[in-house]
Amino acid sequence: MIIKPKFRGFICTTAHPEGCQAQVEEQIRYVLEQNKISGPKNVLIIGASTGYGLASRIVSTFGCGANTIGVSFERPSSGKRTATAGWYNTAAFEKNARQAGVKAYSINGDAFSDEIKQETIALIQAEMGQVDLVIYSLASPKRTHPHTGEQLNSVLKPIGQSYTNKNVDFHTGEIKSLTVEPATEEEIRQTIAVMGGEDWQMWIDALDQADVLAEGVTTLAYSYIGPALTHPIYREGTVGRAKDHLEETAQILQRKLEAKQGRAFVSINKALVTQSSAAIPVVPLYVSLLYRIMKEEGLHEGCIEQIYRLFAEEIFGGSLPHLDAKGRIRIDNLEMREHVQAEVDKRWDTVNDQNLIALSDIEGYRKEFFQLFGFEVAGIDYEQETNADVAIPSID
Ligand code: NAD
Repeated sequence: MIIKPKFRGFICTTAHPEGCQAQVEEQIRYVLEQNKISGPKNVLIIGASTGYGLASRIVSTFGCGANTIGVSFERPSSGKRTATAGWYNTAAFEKNARQAGVKAYSINGDAFSDEIKQETIALIQAEMGQVDLVIYSLASPKRTHPHTGEQLNSVLKPIGQSYTNKNVDFHTGEIKSLTVEPATEEEIRQTIAVMGGEDWQMWIDALDQADVLAEGVTTLAYSYIGPALTHPIYREGTVGRAKDHLEETAQILQRKLEAKQGRAFVSINKALVTQSSAAIPVVPLYVSLLYRIMKEEGLHEGCIEQIYRLFAEEIFGGSLPHLDAKGRIRIDNLEMREHVQAEVDKRWDTVNDQNLIALSDIEGYRKEFFQLFGFEVAGIDYEQETNADVAIPSID
């Protein structure tokens, strides 16, 4: 079929297999050009098909030579529907990893469920024995609690009072004022249950009980802080509460893993264009301004540069990672530099529909968003027929 982007709100409902493959191979190429990392040998990545999780899988294999198991929740193609981008990314990753002679297995299903945890454990036992790195990179709007069956939903809302700020429609470049009403106590509870640390802890407990965590294992989850202007909607809002819980869970896991000389960290990462971050009100405009300033200063990084730096300099750099006062790794350090944020603030006050292109990287944001789904990738002829029915070798 000929595949074109189709949108429902900020979600793209189609994906291009060759474009996704090219994007994955671009990330692989970046890692192959860097120094090798003396790191993990067998890695489990939960949330491995897009964004930070996919970058973690690529750095594990092509930077460290590690075997990987990637868990994600993606949809294969059927009839006239393409697969999701994460499906095509996973197929492309496996193909490249296998060509490089490294084991790569993928599990597609609900990571919050006991069944997927048990399936993953059985696969580790059969193929790797134990894992020495577990990355938790899930981003999900909902969770079915595995023990109570409760359907939980996460919301992106402020707490205590409503929040009004500028928001951009990155398809049209239109900036409008947006007001988000505060969350209820129940919405806060459910958001913590979806995006907090309970499921990460359930994974580590299940893996530990099955004795598939190697001596000296490291586990890592990702979080975000960001600038004061997004705090009401993000860090001091519902998702921020969930991130507080995730970060507290790292401390619990650190104490638990000490018995096997293990380590548990949260890394605070940079704001980037991913399917999840596009859904957060106000954030796309912030990211567009941030990208422009960081590119102008030669400080810009994408997922792959962030995760390579995290592995090479912090986790597997040979010395202890640099931690902030709350025990977190801060690879958001370039984003949070004082002069970068001062420039964002200055532009934020004046940005409008007329000067958006001059002040921000809205064009870069839009392009990267399309590229998440395999579109607008150089070298791909989008007028050509493409086979949308792509298999993931370890699943089919
Ligand atoms: P993403 O949307 O690109 O990836 C989410 C992954 O989770 C995908 O692999 C998806 O398949 C998987 N997933 C979702 N629900 C699942 C389920 N029920 N079962 C199995 N897999 C499931 O997200 P991302 O932006 O890379 O975010 C990953 C983590 O990084 C999150 O914790 C996020 O808060 C954090 N982070 C993101 C940013 C950013 O700007 N994007 C910045 C800092 C930290």
